[in-house]
Amino acid sequence: MGGTALSVRAHGLETEYGLQVRVLTASGRWRRLGSDEAGEALFAPVAEANRATNVYLRNGGRLYLDVGSHPEYATAECATIGDLVAQDRAGDVVVDQLADRLVEHLADQGEQARVSVFKNNVDSHGNSWGSHENYQVAREPGDGVDELADALSGFLVTRQLTSGAGHWERDRLGVGRFLLSQRAAHMWDPVGTATTRSRPLVNTRDEPHADPARHRRLHVICGDSTLIDATTALRVGSTELVLRAIEAGQRLDAMVPADTGPAIRAVAGDVTGRVRFDGRAGQLTALDVQRAWWQLTAPFADDDELRRVHETWGRVLDAVQDDRLDEVAHLVDWVAKRRVLLAEQGRRGLRADDPRLAQIDLVWHDIRSGQGLCRLAEARGQVERWVGADVVRRAVDQPPVTRAALRSRFVTAAQQNQRQYTVDWMRFTCHDLADGHASVPDPLCAQDVVVDELVARMASEPRTSAMRRVADPRGPEMPPVV
Ligand code: ATP
Ligand code: MG
Ligand code: MG
Repeated sequence: MGGTALSVRAHGLETEYGLQVRVLTASGRWRRLGSDEAGEALFAPVAEANRATNVYLRNGGRLYLDVGSHPEYATAECATIGDLVAQDRAGDVVVDQLADRLVEHLADQGEQARVSVFKNNVDSHGNSWGSHENYQVAREPGDGVDELADALSGFLVTRQLTSGAGHWERDRLGVGRFLLSQRAAHMWDPVGTATTRSRPLVNTRDEPHADPARHRRLHVICGDSTLIDATTALRVGSTELVLRAIEAGQRLDAMVPADTGPAIRAVAGDVTGRVRFDGRAGQLTALDVQRAWWQLTAPFADDDELRRVHETWGRVLDAVQDDRLDEVAHLVDWVAKRRVLLAEQGRRGLRADDPRLAQIDLVWHDIRSGQGLCRLAEARGQVERWVGADVVRRAVDQPPVTRAALRSRFVTAAQQNQRQYTVDWMRFTCHDLADGHASVPDPLCAQDVVVDELVARMASEPRTSAMRRVADPRGPEMPPVV
C-alpha cells in the first residue's frame, strides 16, 4: 500500500464515562442508583431542554446517553492535537457540570447525593468500553483499512508503554497486579467490525462522515481513556506521526506482532518495556517497537506541535529504558497512577489483595472537580497540561475551526430562532424551511455558502408549518443547555 498522505486531517475522540450516583438514605447508608436511573437523572436537564438525550453541543461535539449505557461525549472534528485535547477536556467539564446540577437538584429535594464520573474503561464486573480515536484517511483502492491496521498493529499493541492509563487488575481472589492498560485484557484481533464482542484494535465499520468516495475514518478502539493532557496528546499525536509515515509508504514489517492478543497482554504486564513477544519475523519488545517507530517518524514531526509530541515521546522511551520512570510521572497516566499506588502500598503496608488499592485505581479516574486523584494532582501542579485551563473553558462553548464551526453556527441560529432542526456530523437540516438542508462532506471545511444562507434564512423567513419532520435515525438532535 503506497498510501495517500493527508497534510491535514480531521481527528475526533469519543469518551464513555462510568457514572456512580449515591444517595444518603434515612438510615444513614449510601444507596447506589441503578445505571439507567443514574443516567436518566444526570441527563434530565438535557432531556428537558432538548426533548432528547442525543444532542450536538455549541462546541460542535456530541453528547449522548444510550438507555442502560454510559454517558458518552464525542469531540468535534479537530485539525490539531491541541484542539483535540481541549475539546476532549471540554467534555469532562460538560459532564462535571451536569453532575453538579444533579447534586443541586437532589439537594433541593432534601436528598444528599454523591456523584462520581469516571473517565476509565473497565468496571468491577469486568465490562470494558473503549476510548475511540478517529482519524480521517484517504480511501485507497481495495480495502485499505485492513492493510493500514496491519501496518499499525505493532505500534498499537506497544503504544500502552507511553499512553496507557494503568490498571490495578484483580484476580478472582482479589489479588491485584499492575498493568499498563485497562483495555489490554479485552483486545484480540487487528481489525473487525464489532466494537464490543470480538474487540479488534481497529474497527472497520465504514462510516466516513465525509465524502465516501475520497475518505474513510480510521476508528482505533484499543486505546485507554487518558486523563493527563500530555498523555492524550502523546496517544493521538504519536499515532498521527505513525500514520503519516505509513501514508508516505514507510513500513516496519519486522515490528508486526505474530498475534495481537497475546502481544498486547504481554506488553501490558511489563513496566520495563522489555518482555519479549512473538513478532512475525522474530521476538520483539515494546521498547524496540516504539523506538523504531519513534526514529522513523522524526522527519514527519514538521510543525511545533508535532515536534513537541515527538520530543515528549522520546523522553518517555528514554525514561523507561533507563529505569527513571519518576522523571515522566507528570507526563504519563500509568506512571503517575502507579506511583500513587506504590506510595500507598508502602505507607500503609497494603498487601496486593487489599481492596483499597482497587479503590485508589478507580478514584484516580474521577473527573469531578475536587474528587478525582489525577485532577487533584493536576491542581497541585504535579502533572503537565498540554493546553491551559482557559483554553479548555473556551472549548466548552467554542468549536474548533473545522466543520464543527458551521455546525455550531447552524445550531445556535436554529435555537435562537426556535427552529425545528436536526444535525449530524455531516448534515444540517432545518425542518421548517423549504429546502432547508446543507451537507458538508469536508470535515475540515469551516466556511460554506449554503450554511450561511440557511443561517440567514432561519432569522428572516417565517416557518413553513406544512414541512414534515424528517425522521433521523439518530433521533431528534437539539443542543442542550449545558
Ligand atoms: P460509535 O459511538 O458507535 O463508535 P461513531 O464512532 O460513528 O459511533 P460518534 O460517537 O458520533 O460515532 O463519534 C464520531 C467521531 O468521529 C467524533 O469524534 C467526530 O468528531 C469524528 N469525526 C467526524 N467526522 C470525521 C471524519 N470525517 N474523519 C474523522 N473523524 C471524524
Ligand atoms: Mg461514539
Ligand atoms: Mg466510535
